[in-house]
Amino acid sequence: MKYSEVTNFIGGRNVKVVGQFLKIFNPQNGEQISTVPLSVKEHLDQAVKIARKAYPEWAAQPIKERVQVLYRYKFLLEKHMDELAELIIEENGKTRSEALAEIQKSMEVTEFACSLPQMIAGEIEEVSKGVECRLDRKPIGVVASITPFNFPNMVPNWTTPNAIALGNAMILKPSELTPLSANRIGELLQEAGLPDGIFNVVHGAREIVEAICDHDDIDGISFVGSTKVAKLVYRRGTANYKRVLALGGAKNHLLVLPDANEDMTASDVAASMTGCCGQRCMAAATMIAVGSVDSIIEKLCQEAGKIVPGKNLGAVISKAAKERIEGYITEAEEQGAKILVDGRGATVAGKEQGYYVGPTVIDNVRPDMRIASEEVFGPVLTIIRTDTVDNAIAIENASDYGNAAAVFTQSGSLANYVTEKVSAGMIGVNIGVPVPREPFSFGGWNESKFGTGDITGKSSIEFWTKLKKTTIKWNPEARTNWMS
Ligand code: NAD
Repeated sequence: MKYSEVTNFIGGRNVKVVGQFLKIFNPQNGEQISTVPLSVKEHLDQAVKIARKAYPEWAAQPIKERVQVLYRYKFLLEKHMDELAELIIEENGKTRSEALAEIQKSMEVTEFACSLPQMIAGEIEEVSKGVECRLDRKPIGVVASITPFNFPNMVPNWTTPNAIALGNAMILKPSELTPLSANRIGELLQEAGLPDGIFNVVHGAREIVEAICDHDDIDGISFVGSTKVAKLVYRRGTANYKRVLALGGAKNHLLVLPDANEDMTASDVAASMTGCCGQRCMAAATMIAVGSVDSIIEKLCQEAGKIVPGKNLGAVISKAAKERIEGYITEAEEQGAKILVDGRGATVAGKEQGYYVGPTVIDNVRPDMRIASEEVFGPVLTIIRTDTVDNAIAIENASDYGNAAAVFTQSGSLANYVTEKVSAGMIGVNIGVPVPREPFSFGGWNESKFGTGDITGKSSIEFWTKLKKTTIKWNPEARTNWMS
């Protein structure tokens, strides 16, 4: 094994787990690289106990002092960028440039966390003669972040820097498929000066997620993953009176109008459907071709042809994922869809055991086909053809999801019309992956998110804090009306 067995990270140190383990594979060549423990409730208890103990002192520090750790952490992310990218490549299978971009986003969200003292400066007002009201933001306590496999470094960093800057103590439960990055985040936070016990990692799968939802000493849960599990976590966590924000899956629609810039649209759509091998919740899943856009589709297929597995396209996460994705393609073909670019059966010389799927473009997909409504999570674009912009909007609106949508056109008024009517939380105009940069927040609508607010940016401040309202009077002479 390339990496030694994964441990939990509790109280500032790696803690070996005695129990069951899962094997971890490098998706690019199918080789086993490590094992991850399937922690049980006792391991979570151990982490929560230590976090609870460390929390009061950390929460009591002024935020300007707390964020000093994050300034140093951001510098360490930059310093160790190559090494962190290597871990992502090994455990997730993405390309080097994608792994480096992931770290860059982790740095950006950490920069945002460093600005939190400025953003949460409180409010104070004299509400009646000699009486003032003051508003302070306080941390919510010990919180958990449950994360998916597709961004093993970035998603933990969506939550951790903001949560700890705002005074919380964190228990991270990473995906059991990609556990390596998490402990390294812990080590770097430690090196940056974070007190022991404020950031902890407990590895495992379903059992540990359920234990988090049920734990009396966990005050809030942030979840990112599929809609099926987001619903389970939201329901179970809130039933146990916790604050929960659960981000789910996606099925993003890109509306391509006949006046769109051909070259830009073709390359943007191709990049959106294939980036991170289609395994991102912002990926293009369906292109709604409005009217005559055949020349754009032709160019899109040419662009897709330039994206080659093992060269500028990574692998999907597992053998099961490869089989699932190829199954969707075959089913669509059997139902009458036309495969314009076929990525099934992709292999890479010397890495025959890797889990590769090539770019796939499928035309003539009907909205009633399974591939049109379910999340495929691979480098696959379905094309649904329609005649009018209103029909295209209706197709987008019918989706259960609502993470992202985009419109490609050169008409400002049509772009405004579409952005107003689509039902998604993050919208692109001539942008295939409309991820909001900080301080704008990240989060979808409909079945792509359960709970209030977003997971990053200004909106996340509400989630990680609670408000304390203090009414103050020092001057006994100030008795002038009913309030004082
Ligand atoms: P997943 O839902 O399978 O797993 C996410 C987390 O839940 C993992 O930590 C996993 O251990 C845990 N889990 C899995 N099954 C569980 C169960 N039955 N009970 C309790 N916990 C369980 O998701 P994934 O496959 O790791 O990630 C891909 C999914 O995440 C896609 O649907 C993608 O769209 C979504 N995603 C969404 C966003 C967003 O911002 N909305 C971002 C990234 C990924």
